[in-house]
Amino acid sequence: MQAPSIGGVQAPRGGGQTIRLPRGASLSDFADRIGANPASLVQIMLHLGEMVTATQSVNEETLQLLGAELDYDVQVVSPEEEDREILESFKIEFGEDEGDEGDLAPRPPVVTVMGHVDHGKTKLLDAIRHTNVVAREAGGITQHIGAYQVATVHEGEPRKITFIDTPGHEAFTAMRARGAQATDIAVLVVAADDGVKPQTIEALNHAHAANVPVVVAVNKIDKEGADPTKVRAQLTEYGLVAEEFGGSTLFVDISAKEGIGIDNLLEAILLTADAELDLRANPDMDAQGLAIEAHLDKGRGPVATVLVQRGTLRVGDSIVCGEAFGRVRAMLDDNGDTVEEADPSRPVLVLGLTAVPRAGDNFIVVPDDRMARQIAQQRAARLRVADMARSGRRRTLEELFKDLEKGQVEELKLVIKGDVSGSVEALEDALLKIDVGEEVNLRVLHRGVGAITEFDVNLAIADDNAVIIGFNVRPEVRARDLAEREGVDIRYYSVIYQAIEEIEAALKGMLKPEFEEVRTGTAEVREVFKVPRIGNVAGAVVRTGTITRNSKARLIRDGVVVADNLTVVSLRRFKEDATEVREGFECGIGIGYNDIKIEDVIETFEMQEKPRV
Ligand code: GDP
Repeated sequence: MQAPSIGGVQAPRGGGQTIRLPRGASLSDFADRIGANPASLVQIMLHLGEMVTATQSVNEETLQLLGAELDYDVQVVSPEEEDREILESFKIEFGEDEGDEGDLAPRPPVVTVMGHVDHGKTKLLDAIRHTNVVAREAGGITQHIGAYQVATVHEGEPRKITFIDTPGHEAFTAMRARGAQATDIAVLVVAADDGVKPQTIEALNHAHAANVPVVVAVNKIDKEGADPTKVRAQLTEYGLVAEEFGGSTLFVDISAKEGIGIDNLLEAILLTADAELDLRANPDMDAQGLAIEAHLDKGRGPVATVLVQRGTLRVGDSIVCGEAFGRVRAMLDDNGDTVEEADPSRPVLVLGLTAVPRAGDNFIVVPDDRMARQIAQQRAARLRVADMARSGRRRTLEELFKDLEKGQVEELKLVIKGDVSGSVEALEDALLKIDVGEEVNLRVLHRGVGAITEFDVNLAIADDNAVIIGFNVRPEVRARDLAEREGVDIRYYSVIYQAIEEIEAALKGMLKPEFEEVRTGTAEVREVFKVPRIGNVAGAVVRTGTITRNSKARLIRDGVVVADNLTVVSLRRFKEDATEVREGFECGIGIGYNDIKIEDVIETFEMQEKPRV
């Protein structure tokens, strides 16, 4: 079927036919589906005001626009849907418990601790862990694996609670952004001496958005000036009404430092779980869950902490986790003890994967290694396309012209490497959210876990001016040499906030600077001297600020500028040359301008770069 020409270009019309394309598809992919020549689609897009090449990944709008033009019903498939389709082709369903009601057994709640910086999240996670030492063999060394489980007794019953121990909501949001939800309950930590702060609200919003019930831990009650009642009052404004105020949210006063109220908090978590959630899973199926954290261990290779969400994970299982796959060689808990089986809500460190998965990647036990590898490969192929879509920014012709007019298109490109995938994703997420307006674009070329390698540096070189960010990682020797030789900027951070602040500043620095005039000093002319070869010089007294030699100046008479674009060419104090003279002092000022009169004012100023706000 040939189309009536669009802007003189021929392309087959769809007649409303549906075509499915993955997010991040190119015009070439589109052309493939409809049996058209890619070049003709490029031309059509050009007529529609967008310049894209045939193989470049385009965004959904562009695909829809082209679809509408050619009369196709374009369905852009999200990465999650696509993943589901990949799994379906292997007859695997992720996220569903097999069997019926009778197969479900209660599982422990999974808790994330959130709150404003310095309100005690880390301390609380430590304190909870320590109240539970009884459950641990003497001499066991606790390890940070990204999550831990504690045992407690609730209403006479032994119960467990799982805590994700990467505090803060960055990790939480990064996971959610990938469609993964690990958390059942959020503990919102608020310091009683500081009250509700911006990040408290942010954390609360994230919990609400994720539909996760909140238990409030009012911390630092040991401190002078602690006002737990005020915290309760403040939070009512945000819809969290304490039980004692007639609401349904549990508030628990604690001191993470002194270990006060920790048991009450655990109790409140279980009460909330029992009242608001139906936490059950089928333990008798092939395990499924999420990767919470992962990194490359020198001795052990890729290791990932996974949270089992349903089924039971066993040593020897074939698993696929994101793009990584393998056979579970060993499992360890947060005491470093080996574990043979992990049931629902249990976090374990898994050894035996071929690669480092990303935080939020799902893991699935499959019948054999071959299937695991095939799924992983299909996912990897899909992710490459999705990554390309993410980095490719569409420009309309208008935009392109505008940028050309302005002279330059500014873009800060980054390569992010970190010690664990959770922090890499959290950092990338946060960086991409920095808003510095339209002129500057931030692009992440590559991200990964582990030391900065030659590959990373080469990537930065290839895409000139890319900056490498090392979050708790350092470059390998050869990578460092290469970076030095080629002048590639590597920046090291160990605190996410610091990284965000600096990159934000860098982005602002890349914006074309705006200058503003700042007055540096004024001087009143008292006498006029005639100096041979120099001309007239003002005998003056500095009235405000400082007069500095070589600074820019203007001459003002009766409030009117009589001469501008002058420079302080000579500055003398008691016949000595001076570099600057401060307020209240007399001096001789030469401004290279002869028409000076008594009572004139010499004003000096400098151009300062205006900070962007
Ligand atoms: P985070 O940023 O929320 O993880 O906060 P931290 O757990 O690092 O705690 C911040 C500071 O508050 C540290 O100096 C802690 O020792 C202190 N802190 C935490 N909990 C308490 C508490 O219950 N009482 C007192 N007095 N100090 C606390």
